[in-house]
Amino acid sequence: MPENKEVRTRFAPSPTGFLHVGGARTALFNYLYAKAQGGKFLLRVEDTDQARSTEESFKTILESLKWLGIEWDEGPHVGGPYGPYVQSERISIYKEYTEKLISEGKAYRCFCTQEELEAKKKQAEAMGVPYVYDGLHANMSEAEVQEKLKAGTPYSVRFKTPSKTLIFDDIIQGKVKFETKLIGDFIIVKSDGFPSYNYAVVVDDGLMKISHVIRGVGHLSNTPRQILIYEALGFPVPEFAHASEIVGMDGKKLSKRAGATSILAFRDLGYLPETFLNYMALLGWTSPDGQEYLPGDILPKTFDVHRCSKSPSTFDVFRKPKGGDEEVATNFSSLDQIADAMNPKSKLNWLSNKYIRELPIQKVAESLVPFLENRTDIPAEYRDPKNKELHSLVDSVRVYLDNLRQAPDYIAEFFVSDLKVEDGEAKEILSQEFSPNIVSTFYELLKKSDPKTDEDYKALMTQVGEQTGQKGKTLFMPIRVSATGKAHGLELPILFPLLGKEKLLKRIEKISVQVGISLP
Ligand code: GLU
Repeated sequence: MPENKEVRTRFAPSPTGFLHVGGARTALFNYLYAKAQGGKFLLRVEDTDQARSTEESFKTILESLKWLGIEWDEGPHVGGPYGPYVQSERISIYKEYTEKLISEGKAYRCFCTQEELEAKKKQAEAMGVPYVYDGLHANMSEAEVQEKLKAGTPYSVRFKTPSKTLIFDDIIQGKVKFETKLIGDFIIVKSDGFPSYNYAVVVDDGLMKISHVIRGVGHLSNTPRQILIYEALGFPVPEFAHASEIVGMDGKKLSKRAGATSILAFRDLGYLPETFLNYMALLGWTSPDGQEYLPGDILPKTFDVHRCSKSPSTFDVFRKPKGGDEEVATNFSSLDQIADAMNPKSKLNWLSNKYIRELPIQKVAESLVPFLENRTDIPAEYRDPKNKELHSLVDSVRVYLDNLRQAPDYIAEFFVSDLKVEDGEAKEILSQEFSPNIVSTFYELLKKSDPKTDEDYKALMTQVGEQTGQKGKTLFMPIRVSATGKAHGLELPILFPLLGKEKLLKRIEKISVQVGISLP
């Protein structure tokens, strides 16, 4: 690391939408690296695109970071020595530096109109060469400039790009070589007086003493411009680390909806913040010992941006997109839709199950509370996260959960009071000729045995199959309906041990009376 001793990183979102996985991973890598190095992590809001920035988006981004537990040492709400941390409140600071650059001959006003620039672009296109601004106003005399200013001619400010070969070492992407003549003199202040992204970012990173810029690889191509500005302003150039692309299960750039899904959707789907952080940390980084389940403070202790990989990482949360591009581009409109599109065997689910199983039960119960609201089939006292009975219920079902949103259906099974055979499929199943025999055989064998585990119940059902000569669905469905009244629900080997033998026997008795099956 050159001049800056303390590690200072930042996350600099533009408030133009949700915080999605790409942005959240960038925030996380910056946060973790600062933590691991005993440095500072800053949050800076880049809202110079006034047309696209919204207060709503700003709030959602903050809410998402808070949910994830990514706390900033300096930034909005907490302040800090280099504030303000919102770019639209820093306009006078950029102005000061722009004037300095102009007076030093490192930038100049460009009075070209939009139409003139468009025509030049078209001409370059027609000639099949990349468009580079021709520097028309670079050498205007002071008198000419003053005249235009007096006349109120709109202008932008362009950076006078020195022609050279720029070489820098990116921590993740390696050596990058760039010919600056390919960029030409680029705009640093737009005609509306707002700084361009490449300019504001450098003024801020310089003044905020950022030591490491960690961000998505999409910004790699902006880096040469930014380095030129650092040099022109006399700020030390920070280290850069451009994290590789995140791809979907099809190996392609994340589809619009998968990539744009708000982080908060994962909260609402019942994933714990620790799970999601752990999952995101593995998108492009590997822990020194290769472990993937990294609870507690392992991440902030071990994360090192130098261990990030150059190859794309796979976001396996959603299944391979089905159908054409049109379907892929549709935005999710409901949580159910997102849940449907998810890959049940994702690493996220594997981690999630592990966290749900291993976190203290009190913590799991607390996180579960929002999912129990509006569940009229679960008694209200179970919404108290200190309820010991809730703890034991959660403890018995948590091994089956991929997320907390699935939990209420499991828990509700314990409170079924008016067990009834549902009309339709369930009724039909029990009216099949062979059903009474299956149900009564199951009942009889259950009464005589003492099954405890899922394996015990599987064995019991196999025995029923042998005695009745039935197997597969024909065997399981009547047993299911006789125990639940429904044709669909939890896997039987999961449900039965949860209910226990006595409850199960009572349920079968109740249903059998309803449909006229006589039990032994
Ligand atoms: N506001 C930029 C973005 O959201 C920040 C890029 C950077 O980190 O330099 O992409």
